[in-house]
Amino acid sequence: MSVIERLTGELSRLPGVGQKTALRLVHHLMKGAKEDTHRLARSLVDLAEKIRECRECGNFSEDELCEVCADPRRDGSVLCVVEEAYQVGAIEGTGQFRGLFHVLGGRLSPLDGIGPAELNIESLLRRVADSGGMIEEVIVATNASVEGEATAVYLEGEIRAFGPRVTRLARGIPVGSDLEYVDGSTIAQALAGRREM
Ligand SMILES: [Zn+2]
Repeated sequence: MSVIERLTGELSRLPGVGQKTALRLVHHLMKGAKEDTHRLARSLVDLAEKIRECRECGNFSEDELCEVCADPRRDGSVLCVVEEAYQVGAIEGTGQFRGLFHVLGGRLSPLDGIGPAELNIESLLRRVADSGGMIEEVIVATNASVEGEATAVYLEGEIRAFGPRVTRLARGIPVGSDLEYVDGSTIAQALAGRREM
């Protein structure tokens, strides 16, 4: 396999990038300055080598604690639970949330063999328990899909025993949609109008 075929193949495996787009990107890189391509390659290596899961919340992080967990100005009494780490960015983008996060790493999906043990649920419950009442509210911001709803109901049952309020984002997030693709003002409204589960 040629260098060009190999890179085209790698790029076409990325979400939203088909074979055609991949080839166009490769041509663009070949025509551009070598230094630009080297810089891109270094960024990819850095990503592979330096990014890990935050010890506390499961968010992407360069250090043991992510930027959110390491920020002493954040409100430790509210925890927002999301399915994937990239959704932290969607909520951070609204500028309306000052609490902390917990990243599940997916959603309950029995048909795909994903049960509670496959997600960061135990660490979530431990976090709530260990807070000794410091965490007063858990906002379950899983997606508005069937699986996201089922995950929310499961979490509500597990968390409530420890004392905090459990809330869910308000309707307004289109059914079936991923938070990442919802605009910031809609997320902000859904946060503001969150309801008790
Ligand atoms: Zn964190």
